[in-house]
Amino acid sequence: MVTLSPDEYAVSHGWKELSTLLVTAGRHKESLSDQGQFVNDPLHRGSTVIYPSVSAMRNTEGQQYQHHTLYGAMGSPNQHELEKVMTLIEGGSHTQIVSSGLTACTLPLLAFLSSGDHCLLIDSIYGPTKRFSEKVMKRFGIEISYYPADITVAEIERYIQPNTKVIFTESPGSHTFEIQDIPALARLAHQHHIKLFLDNTWGIGIFKPFEHGVDVSVQALTKYANGHSDLVLGAVTVNSDPDWHLLRDTAIALGEVAGPDACWLALRGLRTLGARLEQQSISALHIAKWCQNQPEIERVLHPALSSCYGHNLWKRDFSGASSLFTLVFKSHIQTQQVINIIERLNLFAIGASWGGYESLILLTDGEIYRNFPNQLLTGSACRLHIGLENTQDLIDDLNSAFSIWRS
Ligand SMILES: *Cc1c(COP(=O)(O)O)cnc(C)c1O
Repeated sequence: MVTLSPDEYAVSHGWKELSTLLVTAGRHKESLSDQGQFVNDPLHRGSTVIYPSVSAMRNTEGQQYQHHTLYGAMGSPNQHELEKVMTLIEGGSHTQIVSSGLTACTLPLLAFLSSGDHCLLIDSIYGPTKRFSEKVMKRFGIEISYYPADITVAEIERYIQPNTKVIFTESPGSHTFEIQDIPALARLAHQHHIKLFLDNTWGIGIFKPFEHGVDVSVQALTKYANGHSDLVLGAVTVNSDPDWHLLRDTAIALGEVAGPDACWLALRGLRTLGARLEQQSISALHIAKWCQNQPEIERVLHPALSSCYGHNLWKRDFSGASSLFTLVFKSHIQTQQVINIIERLNLFAIGASWGGYESLILLTDGEIYRNFPNQLLTGSACRLHIGLENTQDLIDDLNSAFSIWRS
């Protein structure tokens, strides 16, 4: 056994604890066939489901809420298997798998809000969720407003209106990494009969949304869950029968479905999530600390570092960290200088998204749209996603790119 430093333990122990669940979830020894079978469930492609009798077909009433396969557009066996596994990982009562992470954000908004209602979103919410709220929700008579990502829950109360029905938060925000006090926010929301939605993509497996009072948890499975940058997929998990019926009815009404191939791949990806993230989280911590010591860097926004907003909440509520964080450069450094560094890197590919096995870098200047001034972004910034490469190789790559400023 390798001995970890306290910091390494803090970012990785949740992944280690999750590993057995991830490998075994959905596999039942008692249901194995005597003829034996493959480890992974087969891929089921289909549209029509056929029955031996009319009465058997009529007996399926109500089964749309029970992850049964009734019609291709209502989900395949692979989708339903993934739904059960995601419910084990997130907690809650039921999961709906959807065609993308963005759909996982938009589907519950459509399900839970009606004309005349108000939806309050955190300023650091995933950008396309903001775009959907502005471009679509408003057209249907839903009021939209935002609260700053760096205020206390007592201050958030001032943004609540009599018609507020949903608060949609993200913790940490995927560019500036502010951690939110989810238990306190859930109490506030419930006092006002408001549903609390959380985009939990960064915290998959290491933040248990329903233990902290969340009503609807959203996952972009595209990211760490799949882990191989070869599909888009999302999950919405809820925690009560009424919420499940509302969500499921809306998904069916919209014809929302995820392809069986994507579900099969995502389930395969999930099996190795624990081992991947155990390594990626420790590697990211070392690289974040190395970056913190470079004279050109003003601050590193990584929840495991004390320079991150809400670091103590992260220590209290999370059992690990992911491998995504942001570098903010000193204010005298020009964006073009940062671009020069980015383009000199060999191991960090330039690209958005994250969660695969490969390291990525993204210049975020001008990319993130905020309604409130952000105190953390005092200079040019870029976001790093740390993959499964050797940590020292990644540091060497960064070091040689940074060295153009020092010769
Ligand atoms: C990527 C992402 C999404 C959207 O996922 P897609 O599958 O790309 O649509 C939603 N929320 C967060 C936080 C994300 O990073």
